[in-house]
Amino acid sequence: MRKRFGTMLPDICRSLFRRPATGDYPFVAAVTPERLRGRLEWDPAACTGCGLCAMDCPASALAVAVLDRKARRFVLQYHLDRCIFCGQCVVSCRQGCLRMTGTPWELAALTRETFVTYFGDPTDVEQVLAVKPEEDPGTPG
Ligand code: SF4
Ligand code: SF4
Repeated sequence: MRKRFGTMLPDICRSLFRRPATGDYPFVAAVTPERLRGRLEWDPAACTGCGLCAMDCPASALAVAVLDRKARRFVLQYHLDRCIFCGQCVVSCRQGCLRMTGTPWELAALTRETFVTYFGDPTDVEQVLAVKPEEDPGTPG
């Protein structure tokens, strides 16, 4: 035992004078890598409502509702709790409407409902929820 302690002593002494390897989270937020694949963001400006993003999503985390294609009224439903952050939807979208952002990166929540996001004009979102509140195109099975 004494021998073991003797071999550990130099390490212990070095550690006493080194800065800690751990961060001060949650008091100091960690800086996320620039290319972190986090929560999805949707820019509706160029969206055509093609639905490719939803079709190619391997986790059934996306659904596109087309209210009026000519008027470009689309609602994108995003299930954060199903998303595996693969980035496939970003690659599939030919219009460049989707991107993954690292802020905020703390995504934990106490209820599942908070993980569902409806992107789109609030009036359109309301309309989608009013018409088919129970329907969830992304539900497996
Ligand atoms: S990142 Fe992957 S899992 Fe998440 S919504 Fe896009 S395609 Fe689906
Ligand atoms: S793939 Fe792009 S353009 Fe097509 S519905 Fe999705 S976000 Fe809109």
